[in-house]
Amino acid sequence: MKDTFDLLVETEFPRIKRAQLETLQVNLGYLCNQQCLHCHVDASPRRKEIMTAETISDVLDFLKQKEIKTLDLTGGAPEMNPEFFSLVEQATDLGVHVIDRCNLTVLLEKGYEKTAAFLAENKVEVVASMPCYLEENVDAQRGKGVFDLSIEGLKLLNKKGYGIDEKLQLNLVYNPQGINLPPSQNVLEPAYKRELKQRFDISFNNLYTITNMPIKRFGSTLLSKGLFGEYMQLLKSSYSKDNLAGLMCRTTLSVDWRGYAYDCDFNQMLGLPAGLTVDWVEDTVDGPARKHINDLLQSDLKGGDIAIMDHCYGCTAGNGSSCGGALI
Ligand code: SF4
Ligand code: SF4
Repeated sequence: MKDTFDLLVETEFPRIKRAQLETLQVNLGYLCNQQCLHCHVDASPRRKEIMTAETISDVLDFLKQKEIKTLDLTGGAPEMNPEFFSLVEQATDLGVHVIDRCNLTVLLEKGYEKTAAFLAENKVEVVASMPCYLEENVDAQRGKGVFDLSIEGLKLLNKKGYGIDEKLQLNLVYNPQGINLPPSQNVLEPAYKRELKQRFDISFNNLYTITNMPIKRFGSTLLSKGLFGEYMQLLKSSYSKDNLAGLMCRTTLSVDWRGYAYDCDFNQMLGLPAGLTVDWVEDTVDGPARKHINDLLQSDLKGGDIAIMDHCYGCTAGNGSSCGGALI
């Protein structure tokens, strides 16, 4: 796989600082029932890297100490970490709002049949990737047969009240195919709602549009097709400074399966530790700059630097982009 990292290091992206920490986004590991071609963590049923019970206990300590409002769980398939259920219950008991980034198909896997009911009981918000309401587009991006299983997963969630009961939020994620910015969230959402309702009688709450980042597998594809420069030009020419205030890295800390901290999920994928300033180039990914959440328990992150590179233009282009969709 071709790597865009070195092409992104030099940047004129504005320096940004942390605001009050609100969300802890935790990657519970790379184990997944699927093996999507575009997966940015190379997750698969064979991956062994999952967060241990000990690190999950560190996560809970961090949530308490920092009085964090939202715990956002990612993977792999986060539900496949055996500690997932206990973590959700304990975080919910602390009054923390939990988000599960669910691939939908895991809900139908043998051994996970009770997961949808568990999520509903604990009022976990479900965020699920659904790059299109057309079968051929979803299967092209996520693998053959994934569309049908995703529809089944959505129907199961609807049956449990998701997308219908206002306390059971079901949000879908759209990302463009090819080198375009996503269309307006406000325009696409009604089309998704109409099509999924008419075709499959499925309801959901919000559609989040997310810009593709020029890193990892998508970055590699851009390089292979000779489109990297054109895509970066698009991101930079669509820069909108109005998006800076709402950047998710200002209020979110991302944690990998070993408990190390990053300013966002993209920086985690790049191995770019949290808080590095533009002078970071000398540091190695596994070097002294990398911090475990245990080392940050007593630190006030507010006002601290956010590690930026040229990929950050992906968050400020057009209407902006974050794990919660468009910014403006
Ligand atoms: S479902 Fe998500 S985590 Fe699993 S392989 Fe696909 S993209 Fe990766
Ligand atoms: S990629 Fe986006 S969220 Fe991550 S540090 Fe850059 S601007 Fe912030």
